[in-house]
Amino acid sequence: MIFETHAHYDDEKFDPDRVELLSHLLRENNIGKIVNVGATFNGCKESIALAEKYDDVYAAIGIHPEEIDEINDDVMEWLAVNSSHPKVVAIGEIGLDYYWVKDEKQREKQRFWFEKQMDLAKNLKIPVIIHSRDAAEDTLYTIKKYNNVHVKGIVHCYSYSKEIAMEYVKMGWYIGVGGVVTFKNAKKLVETVESIPLTSIVLETDCPYMAPVPHRGERNSSMYLSYVAEKIAEIKGITVQEVEKVTYQNALNIYKKANK
Ligand SMILES: [Zn+2]
Repeated sequence: MIFETHAHYDDEKFDPDRVELLSHLLRENNIGKIVNVGATFNGCKESIALAEKYDDVYAAIGIHPEEIDEINDDVMEWLAVNSSHPKVVAIGEIGLDYYWVKDEKQREKQRFWFEKQMDLAKNLKIPVIIHSRDAAEDTLYTIKKYNNVHVKGIVHCYSYSKEIAMEYVKMGWYIGVGGVVTFKNAKKLVETVESIPLTSIVLETDCPYMAPVPHRGERNSSMYLSYVAEKIAEIKGITVQEVEKVTYQNALNIYKKANK
């Protein structure tokens, strides 16, 4: 069985078949547990609603760096209250995304709300899911600081070097690997998977985005995680079963509330 650590089933692209997928289709296709990750405030509310509706679904709540214009004290208070929900397993996705944002003031604002949400995780003793794009140095700086006060988590859709990945691994953090690892131009991610231990890897889709080969460009779903598991098995020279088993346990280790 596969543990899907990062999905967005609240996305409208799942309107036609969300019920079918979450009520039985994913389970019938070897997907054991699913964490639905909020990115917007509305997405957080919908993640909790899905977790309440389906046994196998858990929620993460947090505001994505590209959505921080909607954060205010009320939203922060809502996140604080709702993170004690029995099926909310993490704060996320939170972090830094400098890809589209060149303006230094807006980047500063991202760093401000990233740290505010990391404070929340620290105070509530709950793990985090990090989104980081074109912001390797600033992200590592912040995570090191919070790792010192026992905040742990997953660097999702990992896109940096194997050397930086090792820094996260040494701190006991997890690296999220998804469809990108099957892409032809994924040399950096393949090297990362090669060099870090399997005990530090979790499987994720980021669906509806990032569908693996041979479905690249299509709508993604957790069912396609089998291609990701196969690719990791090939890179590491082990069986798919071992990849599934170890990454499933890794996900349970970090998302502690999903053990119930
Ligand atoms: Zn995501």
